[in-house]
Amino acid sequence: MEQQPNAIPGTDALIRYCGTFTPLLAERAEGSYVYTTDGRAILDFTSGQMCSVFGHNHPDIVAALQRAGDQPIHLLSAMLSPAVLELCQQLAALLPEGLDRCLLLNTGSESNEAALRMAKLSSGGFEVIGFAGSWHGMTAGAQSYTYSLTRRGYGPAMPGSLMIPPPYAYRCPVQHCKGTCDHTCLEAGMQLCDQQSVGAYAALIAEPVLSAAGIITLTPGYVARLRELCDERGLYLIFDEAQTAFGRTGHNFAFEAYEVQPDLLTLSKTLGGGLPLAATISSREIEEDCYEKGFMYVTSHVSDPLPAAVGLATLNILLRDEMAARAREMGTYLKAALLELQERHECIGDIRGAGLLLGLEVVADRHTRAPSPELGSRIADRCLELGLSMNIVRIKGYAGVFRIAPPLTITREEIDLGISILDQAIAEAVA
Ligand code: PMP
Repeated sequence: MEQQPNAIPGTDALIRYCGTFTPLLAERAEGSYVYTTDGRAILDFTSGQMCSVFGHNHPDIVAALQRAGDQPIHLLSAMLSPAVLELCQQLAALLPEGLDRCLLLNTGSESNEAALRMAKLSSGGFEVIGFAGSWHGMTAGAQSYTYSLTRRGYGPAMPGSLMIPPPYAYRCPVQHCKGTCDHTCLEAGMQLCDQQSVGAYAALIAEPVLSAAGIITLTPGYVARLRELCDERGLYLIFDEAQTAFGRTGHNFAFEAYEVQPDLLTLSKTLGGGLPLAATISSREIEEDCYEKGFMYVTSHVSDPLPAAVGLATLNILLRDEMAARAREMGTYLKAALLELQERHECIGDIRGAGLLLGLEVVADRHTRAPSPELGSRIADRCLELGLSMNIVRIKGYAGVFRIAPPLTITREEIDLGISILDQAIAEAVA
């Protein structure tokens, strides 16, 4: 990763965890905007790191935080609290039967580690299949199915890590797709895994929409076949809904678009509405089996009451304000505006996604589909200068796609403003 000098005074005391820091300091945030110390209002088309799903500093979340400050903030890991019991009960009630038992943690990485451990313990296997281009977190297990650059300086993936290509229809990995996907890449990917497997399969982990890979959606037909292939091999199916849950794709949980459900589900990012809260959810059978086998997953902040109280507020907003329906409505409006931009800008190769999780792929040439991450980066930089925060994929093989995921509370006027900034930024970047 290229290291660049930092424009912000004071960063000399930081470990530079990413290539470049945004050259602005945030001092306040509200709704769809982040306000900076130099007096600028930045319209946020990324919900922070995709976490501020109902807008920055939602008043209900702030109020829940303040109330929770009067209750125990932190407890011994084995000591439960009403907020924790209530959140687990409410999640189980909202989810279909088969997703019955819940473990509250803090980050997406941890929730995936726990799911992977439960799948390994229960199945007795250790081999896990993931999708190339995915992101499941920075801890050793989760990182094994995450962009390879994150393993730099950390050594190879966990033993038994296998990968299949995602169904990237715009750039079909098996050069087979002619506008519709017949899952050839899935069959071929599974065959390759079978040929490498030592007969110790445990799980397959997938995001319903691969976000870090540039908004690649698993279709209902694809997932139905995936479920069959997992069942045939005794693989537990884990869905990582860090980004896709809580209304984002137009459903409370993205897997509701399918006729099948996972054996294990992980939630994070959106669950805390901006605070660190995550959940691993399993079937009763898997949980009982793991318990019998001595499952243990104790972290310092497992079942902490404060984030759980915030999670209850987030869940309440999701249901009370019908956020999934709102994501569908605003997503349709935003997608139409992006398609209209595509008609005017040759460098927009593809628009895809559902609800308020949309992808815009920048290309050097619309006919050859040659990617252009450099042009994408110039557009992103210009957007920021003009007051719009955009997130661009930088993963090798998938780079140059904007992940457009504004808060679900965004208004039409804010969408119009964001589109006009994007329009200007593209026109100036290609000139
Ligand atoms: N899963 C997905 C789908 C993610 O996008 C991320 C974070 N980008 C993670 C897991 C990891 O979450 P965290 O950074 O909270 O550990």
